[in-house]
Amino acid sequence: MTELHLEEMKEKLPLLDPLMKAEEIFWLNPNSGKRADHPFDESDVAQVEARLQRFAAYIRTAFPETKRSGGIIESPVAEIPHMREALEKKYGAEIPGRLFLKCDSELPVSGSIKARGGIHEVLKFAEEIAFEKGMLTKEDDYAILAEDRFRELFSHYSVAVGSTGNLGLSIGIISAKLGFRVTIHMSADARQWKKDMLREKGAVVVEYPDDYQKAVAEGRREAAKDPMCHFVDDEGSPDLFLGYATAGRRLEKQLTDMGVTVDADHPMFVYLPCGVGGGPGGVAFGLKQVYGGNVHCFFAEPTHAPCMALGMMTGLHDGIACSDVGLDGKTAADGLAVGRASRLVGKIMETELDGVFTVEDEELYRLLAILADTENRYIEPSACAGFPGPVQAAKASEYLTALGLADKMEQAVHVVWATGGSMVPETEMQGYYRKGKSLL
Ligand SMILES: *Cc1c(COP(=O)(O)O)cnc(C)c1O
Repeated sequence: MTELHLEEMKEKLPLLDPLMKAEEIFWLNPNSGKRADHPFDESDVAQVEARLQRFAAYIRTAFPETKRSGGIIESPVAEIPHMREALEKKYGAEIPGRLFLKCDSELPVSGSIKARGGIHEVLKFAEEIAFEKGMLTKEDDYAILAEDRFRELFSHYSVAVGSTGNLGLSIGIISAKLGFRVTIHMSADARQWKKDMLREKGAVVVEYPDDYQKAVAEGRREAAKDPMCHFVDDEGSPDLFLGYATAGRRLEKQLTDMGVTVDADHPMFVYLPCGVGGGPGGVAFGLKQVYGGNVHCFFAEPTHAPCMALGMMTGLHDGIACSDVGLDGKTAADGLAVGRASRLVGKIMETELDGVFTVEDEELYRLLAILADTENRYIEPSACAGFPGPVQAAKASEYLTALGLADKMEQAVHVVWATGGSMVPETEMQGYYRKGKSLL
């Protein structure tokens, strides 16, 4: 690896020093909105949406909880005015405009944002096998995939992934349901209940005492030995990324149905908790495809694992890790406990992302408790990282003025992306809540 000239970088990047001290920062991307060539476009996202539509008949059959949505795995959007008030009070600042919560915490099947990308990647793998064997065509009713002959077919193949928890849950649940053999390589941050649940569903869980990167590397190595094994690469998979990106058109439809306008006079601000970057990056990409310059995306990271802020700020992407700048990567936000950002996503975000801010762990618990008290919604600590965003963005007056948004904020639409939570066991959630209350 090339030597890092940290002292030189610090001179050019005023936020690098506070980031290295694990302080909360708010970084604005100077290259946001510039033109760039990306490896994907709108037609790639549309193809993935078409695949998810084909699979809807199977999903409806295999996961009856998706009957109401016709087998489409999607989450509700809810306006959260009481949380908006509470945030204004907490931070002593105004949030002009309306505040919404995108409840990926309630996504059916696996209860987190990973139900978008992760499930798509496994469905695509299954479809390719079934096509190749001549057992399925695009015109078939995909409900047949629930038949034993397909489970038998898929049992000759396996799926593997390295994960801090939620990606493992998504991949494990869908893979086991289709009949694949599935191995989840879990990092030390992964919560015990996630491992237990996966084993119960029939997945093999391999535990590592190390961090996420190590679990991914081990998973990749194990999978490479087996030609029948598909490795889900959280650090650079286009199928994951595009699965997340379908959220763009989906949200557009939901907002339209709710009568919520997003245009040049009604700018939208979206705040997305970020780990390796695939989930928030895919969603941001999908939203940009739909709304162009009328949507402004910010990532939220824990102060001890701000890998995307570090990679974007320095322009080094996966060429720099939190450990290189003395950060321990330890955080209660297990879904965000990642030390090195995805290169695929970092490169795309160079022009698509408006900024990144970081949040202390204790603040995540406080926000969790405030959301529960004001809106009666319970989400996991990682999923709370986006809440400081609306106040941060509203305070960034130079940025708003430069974009010509300063006088449009009263019409702004803020969307905090709640990335996970409904699978968390009741007792665990009570513990999070009590911790948050004790910190308030
Ligand atoms: C995985 C995850 C994220 C972030 O997604 P990445 O693709 O890792 O950036 C955010 N919140 C939760 C709850 C997650 O599980």
